Amino acid sequence: MAERSIPVVALVDHRRAARPMPIPPRAERPDGQVLDRRGRPLRDLRISVTDRCNFRCSYCMPKEVFDKEHAFLPHAELLSFEEITRLAGLFALHGVKKLRITGGEPLLRKNLEILIAQLAQLRTPTGDKLDLTLTTNGSLLARKAQLLKDAGLDRVTVSLDALDDAVFRRMNDVDFPVAEVMRGIEAALAAGLAPIKVNMVVRRGVNDGQVLPMARHFREHFAHRVVLRFIEFMDVGATNGWRMDEVLPSARLLERIDAAFPLRALDPTAPGETAGRWAYADGAGEIGVISSVTQAFCGDCNRARLSTEGKLYLCLFANQGHDLRALLRDPAIDDAQIAAAIGAVWSQRADRYSELRGAVPDAPRAKLEMSYIGG
Ligand code: SAM
Ligand code: SF4
Ligand code: SF4
Repeated sequence: MAERSIPVVALVDHRRAARPMPIPPRAERPDGQVLDRRGRPLRDLRISVTDRCNFRCSYCMPKEVFDKEHAFLPHAELLSFEEITRLAGLFALHGVKKLRITGGEPLLRKNLEILIAQLAQLRTPTGDKLDLTLTTNGSLLARKAQLLKDAGLDRVTVSLDALDDAVFRRMNDVDFPVAEVMRGIEAALAAGLAPIKVNMVVRRGVNDGQVLPMARHFREHFAHRVVLRFIEFMDVGATNGWRMDEVLPSARLLERIDAAFPLRALDPTAPGETAGRWAYADGAGEIGVISSVTQAFCGDCNRARLSTEGKLYLCLFANQGHDLRALLRDPAIDDAQIAAAIGAVWSQRADRYSELRGAVPDAPRAKLEMSYIGG
């Protein structure tokens, strides 16, 4: 199926804009129970470790925009591993139980296993290890899976948008072969990073012909070891020419799969879970659907995002980040003050962009790039 030509919009740089994070006058000790203005706890921190990537998926980093001229963040702007670990520990005091390393392509960050090893040492206030996961395009996974597991990584999510090699090469737009990603998935399974999630972003008219081949492949060869999840193409970022008619609603997608391989609904495993879960009626494992566009799940969104250079975003569609790096790099500010500032910002959070998307079509918001803030 041919890739449609899409209107590509120039990148507006929202990275510089950040709000200072005021330190509350009385720094109260975090009790792990901080709630935002809609009563949502803070449980999940997504940490972007690089804004660079070796793929140019057109829905994320179209090569017309992310070309040789594009200014990626200089190394001095990035948080160091020590800074990331310090912050993650403070988020854990506020109730974060899950860390997801993302990017850009996180496996491009040099010596990432050192960061994983540091994060694996962190504990929740009740002494539990944090759930440590990573989202990757899989291109370097065959080489790194065992190293990451040995460092303390629990699981991986691999993005894979097609099984057909020609379609996959067009999707990543750098001619990268699907076989190498499949080798990465095998290596991750062999290393014990299971169960592996495989995420497929579905664009109607571009790769939706791959939905059934992907479903068939993973249920036949990886049942119970890989959970395939279908993600609706989202209007994140300003450069990918998003159009509603390229979204395949999850309800339609489930009808297609159900007609070929009957499904039954499963209960969510945890509050705030992004994916709806479905099992194959014949017992060949399960799939997930992430309906970010057609069925907003802001109601129990417990996710915060930390950008590569230390800005805290409370929503994928937030207007601005909050400048945590300035606090980290100020020698007069201690951990208790930074923790208090994080709690104060979270308690003011009211974001629910996806719920409002339809209701307030022109609601002002920044168009942060997914490659900058991570998925
Ligand atoms: N490079 C890694 C990868 O591709 O897995 C990690 C970063 S990537 C930004 C994280 C996830 O965001 C991927 O699963 C990707 O498919 C998804 N993503 C990026 N742009 C998207 C969009 N416009 N709509 C839906 N998902 C998107
Ligand atoms: Fe890179 Fe991931 Fe974005 Fe694709 S989705 S361009 S692999 S960051
Ligand atoms: Fe969470 Fe914002 Fe996405 Fe809603 S739109 S689910 S608040 S990140």
